[in-house]
Amino acid sequence: MSAHEQMRAMLDQLMGTARNGETDKHGTKFYDDAVCKSFLLQCCPHEILSSTRMDLGECPKIHDLALRADYELASKTKDYFYDIDATEHLEAFIADCDRRTAAAKQRLAETQEELSAEVTEKANAVHELAEQIGQKLARAEALGEEGMVEESFKLMGEVEELRKKKMVAEQDYRNSMPASSYQQQKLRVCEVCSAYLGIHDNDRRLADHFGGKLHLGFITIREKLAALKKTVDKRRDERGASERERGGPGGRRHYVGGRELDRRARRHRETARDRDRTKDTDRDQRGKDRERDRDRERDRDRRRSRSRSRSKREGSRERSRGRDRDRERESRRSRSHRSGSRERRRD
Ligand SMILES: [Zn+2]
Ligand SMILES: [Zn+2]
Repeated sequence: MSAHEQMRAMLDQLMGTARNGETDKHGTKFYDDAVCKSFLLQCCPHEILSSTRMDLGECPKIHDLALRADYELASKTKDYFYDIDATEHLEAFIADCDRRTAAAKQRLAETQEELSAEVTEKANAVHELAEQIGQKLARAEALGEEGMVEESFKLMGEVEELRKKKMVAEQDYRNSMPASSYQQQKLRVCEVCSAYLGIHDNDRRLADHFGGKLHLGFITIREKLAALKKTVDKRRDERGASERERGGPGGRRHYVGGRELDRRARRHRETARDRDRTKDTDRDQRGKDRERDRDRERDRDRRRSRSRSRSKREGSRERSRGRDRDRERESRRSRSHRSGSRERRRD
């Protein structure tokens, strides 16, 4: 973002569309259907996961800081019940991700060498300790960067303890199978973001995962959804009451073939329609630029991963695929740390 654009965004955020006079640039109001209500509430996955390997591309609905400012002002005096819209949006999104996680697990179950129940338990013990280490390490680094040195130090102490436990668990796991099997990478799927995590991944890599933008973005989305779900039933009742108050049953109703669509189904229809429209017509220059950057990045990654797979003969294809995918992460660390393919998933 140029300094000028940054300044504009800041003013939009502060002043809303009023800054542009009575008619704003879209002629759009924040309450229009085309505006992303999740964005108004700062929880649209398209925004939160942008520039991660799960980048969803541009949201089919409008994101505009000025409209968010308008909404924030207006919502002080009127209840718009957008939390209900956001709940439904995030629910559908997370359900999708969980389906993907289940599919990834299924794939692993089919492709990975099967272990006995006893060995599986030992492998899981290693996985769990490794993941705790990665999480704590990421947290310790974040705290350190925030200048909370003491807390960070305390966590590093805990990491040391976990490392000792992990060494024991690894030994136990190693002893339970022939050396050749032990060498093989065993993968597990991250329950939060559906990335692959390997049993031989080192602490650094796991810390990069758990402290990375993708994983943290998913935590943000899941926490937001959990919070929204706590109140959504009550809020639906309240909205119903307020609609009845404002005359007539429900105002606008949507019927398809004589049957009322539930709100979620309607949303999906709308989203699909909007997305098609976006794809076909107003693919703007920015979209094209992003596409191009991504392609370039992908090419680079392909070259890199090719040389990597030449240098590392061991390991299954599944493994290198999982790793490539997962390596893409936003990190505060040097770019030299980064490699991996950036892929765009669209559903
Ligand atoms: Zn959105
Ligand atoms: Zn994750």
